[in-house]
Amino acid sequence: MKQFKTESKKLLDLMINSIYTNREIFLRELVSNASDAIDKLSFAALTDSSVSINQDDLAIRVAFDKDARTITVSDNGIGMSAEELEENLGTIAHSGSEAFKAEHSDAQGDAMDIIGQFGVGFYSSFMVAERVRVVSRAFGSDQAFAWESDGIEGYTVEPAAAGERDGEGDHGTDVILYLRASSEAEDTDKFLSEWGLRDLIKRYSNYVRHPIQMMVTKSEPVENPEDLPEDAPRYVEHQELETINSMTPIWKKRQSEVEQDDYDEFYKSTFHDWSAPARTISFHAEGSISYDALLFIPSEAPFDLYSKDYEKGLALYSSNVLIQEKCADLLPDYYNFVRGVVDSPDVTLNISRETLQQNRQLRAIAKRVERKIKSELQTMLVDDREAYEKFFENFGRGIKFGIYNSYGMNAGELADLLLFWSAKEEKYVTLREYALAMPEGLDKILYASGDSRERLAKLPAVTGAVKRGYDVLLCTADVDEFMIQAMRTYHMDAVAGDAENAGVDARDLELANVSTANLDLATDEEKQEAEKATKDNQGLFDAMAAKLQDKVSAVKVSANLTDAPACIATEGPISLEMERVMMQGPDADAAPRAQRVLELNASHPVFDKLVAAQEAGDEEKLALYASLLYDQALLVEGLPVDDPVEFAKNVCALM
Ligand code: ADP
Ligand code: MG
Repeated sequence: MKQFKTESKKLLDLMINSIYTNREIFLRELVSNASDAIDKLSFAALTDSSVSINQDDLAIRVAFDKDARTITVSDNGIGMSAEELEENLGTIAHSGSEAFKAEHSDAQGDAMDIIGQFGVGFYSSFMVAERVRVVSRAFGSDQAFAWESDGIEGYTVEPAAAGERDGEGDHGTDVILYLRASSEAEDTDKFLSEWGLRDLIKRYSNYVRHPIQMMVTKSEPVENPEDLPEDAPRYVEHQELETINSMTPIWKKRQSEVEQDDYDEFYKSTFHDWSAPARTISFHAEGSISYDALLFIPSEAPFDLYSKDYEKGLALYSSNVLIQEKCADLLPDYYNFVRGVVDSPDVTLNISRETLQQNRQLRAIAKRVERKIKSELQTMLVDDREAYEKFFENFGRGIKFGIYNSYGMNAGELADLLLFWSAKEEKYVTLREYALAMPEGLDKILYASGDSRERLAKLPAVTGAVKRGYDVLLCTADVDEFMIQAMRTYHMDAVAGDAENAGVDARDLELANVSTANLDLATDEEKQEAEKATKDNQGLFDAMAAKLQDKVSAVKVSANLTDAPACIATEGPISLEMERVMMQGPDADAAPRAQRVLELNASHPVFDKLVAAQEAGDEEKLALYASLLYDQALLVEGLPVDDPVEFAKNVCALM
């Protein structure tokens, strides 16, 4: 027996026991090697006229024997001579495939799609096998050799036994794994079954470009069952050779060559969705790093999208072989709903192909993926508004969190993807549409936030603004106002080209809560009137503020109100809606409160009543009025009154 080299021994031990985290990938590695062997033979046939083979016969076979506890992976590819067996399998981290690629580097392309590169994949067999026998016969040779090892000490290479690859033209390789006994720590039995192997082939090797065949059991109903005795079986079973993998990696094709139906089918079966995707994005990159990407924007949100268990990520393949089912690094959190595949032969995966840290290439791909998603969404916004609105209802929350979580740093990237409900238009608008439709004299984007659109539309602050011709964005999602505070401003790009609004300059617009005290929306005339009322009635405001002392920080006249007698505005960064959201959170007691101001409409008849009560020195009445006005303003905002009993008493007193 020949010993593995000492460093090889250490490496082997490391490999088997720690590098691979996932035992089941052994099959992927053996199938990949078989596929490489077939590619090498095809390549030889292309370049050497003395090599003649029938391409259609080239295939990979997977078989198992439950009693002998063996799994055999066979190919009729190029095979290995005794020297090659020794060189390729006797030295760990020696990749015959890598050498082959280097030798034929000018001939890359369609002729082959060599997967191997590290020279360690084969040894993953020892994660499940206590012994591995490799019987191989090089193409053109009439003698097969057998390599055998327990994966610990060393290996033997001997001429193969009678019956092992000794038929006419029986070139290729059989890798026979003698599986370890199943134990509690390690279930190897599951690999000794048709469904177990089928599952692994489908999952990891579905797109390997050569057929992977397996004998499978099929059952069919018997003919004329009525002629049979009662207890006779109604089904007959037979064995049949089936190709398990689907082979065509749809992501390698150009979008123009693929029917949308085929994309839809691929999407539904791969990502387990009932509905077809809303958008399909396919692109291909060449250069220092080449890859094919196929992305989908789903049309429905998966039920667990906003739960902790949801895992974002794209499937990462290298030369058609699955490396990682969900590579999270390829997607930013705010596009976590995107599904798809990236396939690159160039990603320098660490030896295990599973630990993908420190990957510059991966980051480069992720960047491009992100740009593609954004531009697709922007196209959708223009092309198919209805679909976009549905998209935004499903996935907008993630985008909003993307802005909020980055403290607004992602706002530049994401703000143009946002939709808001317009109080004036009664439909969704983008910030850009809002900005372009802004009337002269307004320099802010106005919004109101609360829990229902209907209620917000009736708020005095909102109706007042709309009456003046200003639009107000009605925000009803919990995250909305927090996101807006993180953004602070919206940067609108200049309008170029001969678009309707051509010539509009780029500008930064502040986003302002329409219920903020001191918001300047009124006409000069209204403002003067309010100023006068303020000057004339300071005593009234002080008296009311004293009465409402623990509730509001001030009582003022607002020029902004049109129809309502009063409203509650806020000063400082916390709005009423933010207060409400935070009060529902886990830290309700510590949550900061909104600083309230009671704003009065000096041109409303109620204001005259207040002035009259003040002039008459009727303190009791003034207290009653102040309390009632404050409570009704709370109710209009959709907030509970502090003391319903007192409120009811006050109403009766008034009657
Ligand atoms: P890699 O595939 O990354 O090169 P492996 O450890 O999987 O590394 O395989 C080592 C080498 O053994 C391969 O490069 C190849 O030269 C040889 N080899 C493995 N399996 C086969 C096979 N079925 N047919 C021919 N050669 C093989
Ligand atoms: Mg390999």
